[in-house]
Amino acid sequence: MSVQEDILAEIKAYQTIIIQRHQRPDPDAIGSQVGLAELLRASFPDKKIYQVGGPTEGLDYLAEMQEINETTYQGALVIVTDTANAPRISDDRFNLGAKLIKIDHHPNEEPYGDLMWVEDEASSCSEIIADFWQLFPTELHMSQNAARLLYAGIVGDTGRFLYPSTSAHTLRIAADLIDFGFDYATLNRQIEQISSNVARLSGYVYQNLQMDETGAARLTFSTEMLKEFGVSDAQTSGVVPLPGAIEGVLAWAIFVQQAEGYYRVRMRSKGPAINGIAKRYHGGGHALASGANVRDLTEAQELYEELQKLCKNFAANH
Ligand code: AMP
Repeated sequence: MSVQEDILAEIKAYQTIIIQRHQRPDPDAIGSQVGLAELLRASFPDKKIYQVGGPTEGLDYLAEMQEINETTYQGALVIVTDTANAPRISDDRFNLGAKLIKIDHHPNEEPYGDLMWVEDEASSCSEIIADFWQLFPTELHMSQNAARLLYAGIVGDTGRFLYPSTSAHTLRIAADLIDFGFDYATLNRQIEQISSNVARLSGYVYQNLQMDETGAARLTFSTEMLKEFGVSDAQTSGVVPLPGAIEGVLAWAIFVQQAEGYYRVRMRSKGPAINGIAKRYHGGGHALASGANVRDLTEAQELYEELQKLCKNFAANH
């Protein structure tokens, strides 16, 4: 049996299914999690299906979480979507269930769970959930809301179908989802919408980005700056892709100071794989989109020098 058949068999075997995703969720985290929950609700109306995790951080237009207590986990199947490693799972009760399944599209470097379906070539975890539906068309039934959520996840993780992770298959799946008739124009606007404070911060990014001749670029936000702009840590996600539009920028790092003093680093690339650097600085992620953490500005400088070297080598070979 394929892992997909195994997963479907487990879903059929359990009466209670709890679905979780990663902390600091993005549209693909919520989209894959609640998209799967809605797909299963439409397919197995007699089962109890729950979507559980911490705050949705500005993504309430997609879905809200449900509150459940520990006893609900007893004898339940737990499925975690879009989450590379167990410590990043939002709500650490995930291992209180009878069985755990991981469905993800990040490199599978920290496996967890009794069953795993990991495809790191997929544009998004939402695309994998849509593949699941298409593999079992007589048993799994897509609903309009499930289609809306999965489409949102795909749009979010492909940067509106612009990133190289977008394949012809991704576009076909998106088209199949749109066929369910949800209002995708409104959804696209909701995904793209930024607050006026984030708009002001975007201006700051374009004016103050430090770029160099290697193609590396960086910007640092202190907690005071974010307070001045009235922007939360989660909202900085809106400005992370911006440097990619600038000619000559190859890879970049945005350092965001946390209340505890350390800096969370959000890295992106248009060419060289940056997840090796992210791993060396307490992080990880995809080849072209990674996250890391540095203690202070000295360690931030070290990370940036590695990024410069990487860009220089890449440019020399391309
Ligand atoms: P972000 O910059 O937070 O949007 O993250 C970009 C990518 O890097 C996502 O695919 C995350 O899953 C991954 N990532 C971010 N932070 C970490 C971390 N601390 N450890 C492992 N992966 C991370």
